[in-house]
Amino acid sequence: MPFQDIIGHETPITWLRNAIQSNHLAHAYLLIGEEAIGKRMTAIQFIQAMNCDTHADSPTPDACGTCRSCQQIMAHIHPDILFIQPEEGQGQHPQIKIERVREIEHHVIYRPLLGMKKICMIDNADRLTIGAANALLKTLEEPPDHCLFLLVTSRPSALLTTLKSRCLTVRFAPPSQEQAIDYLMQERGFSKADARFISFLTNARLGEALNLDLEDTKAKQHEFFSLLFENSASISGSFEAAETLSKSGQIPEALLWIWTGLRDILLVATQAPTEFLFHEDHLPKLRELAQRTSPQKILGLLDTLHQLEQGLQRNLNSQLRFEQFFLHLREAIPPS
Ligand SMILES: [Zn+2]
Repeated sequence: MPFQDIIGHETPITWLRNAIQSNHLAHAYLLIGEEAIGKRMTAIQFIQAMNCDTHADSPTPDACGTCRSCQQIMAHIHPDILFIQPEEGQGQHPQIKIERVREIEHHVIYRPLLGMKKICMIDNADRLTIGAANALLKTLEEPPDHCLFLLVTSRPSALLTTLKSRCLTVRFAPPSQEQAIDYLMQERGFSKADARFISFLTNARLGEALNLDLEDTKAKQHEFFSLLFENSASISGSFEAAETLSKSGQIPEALLWIWTGLRDILLVATQAPTEFLFHEDHLPKLRELAQRTSPQKILGLLDTLHQLEQGLQRNLNSQLRFEQFFLHLREAIPPS
């Protein structure tokens, strides 16, 4: 897959492309940016572009994606390239241990077999243990000429500063909402409203957006809408909703949905264009809710939501917190 298939990221891609074209490659690059926005995909395509078999007859440094070399890289079986990532099955915070760095040391001793460089890509490099990071630092301090390192992370602050200082940092920002919406319409055949919904929900993080199931997500949207605005019609319904949400095991997600709902009511109440709405397909319901409240009351409710979030972070009784929130919700948007 060529670079131009990656959305957004023009600056980092141009940089990496020029480095290949002018043969001014650094020994180590650190790719940083939010989770799931295309760092890994760009890294893989950078590696493919350096090794593509069709390169000789191509005027651009893009990879074909289909030659033997490109396929081997995609399947992580190219002999010159070592892919390292935290080991699965280690619970919530898997690490990259020193044994893996020993593998790297071994990998880089010998010259490449097929391509120009021996490459080592370390995904989630922030998961290196201190011992592993220090061992890697030694290799990065005096890297053999035929080596190239790619470290990828969404948490650069968790990396050793000395390690970072050995790398050229390539920053990735999420694509704009417009770019993400166009891409989702094209790639997944979404309607504009659906593409906007998914793009807003994932904050234009395409890695996440491409994996979300539209029907499932819409089912959740309906579920939260009725929990929030149907259940709150009665006191007992409010308590039930509070219990459901506090026991859902998906509190951050629940808070995000609540926020999007309140945000939309505020937008409708202030006559904002409907294209800014998250839940455009619930417009009649949003209008009806907006009529029963005022922007001021919704702003107050957003404050309450913020307090709810803080309380939950401090592990205060979550059910009680949600109950309080729902009581405020009933006051701010009285049942019809
Ligand atoms: Zn190729």
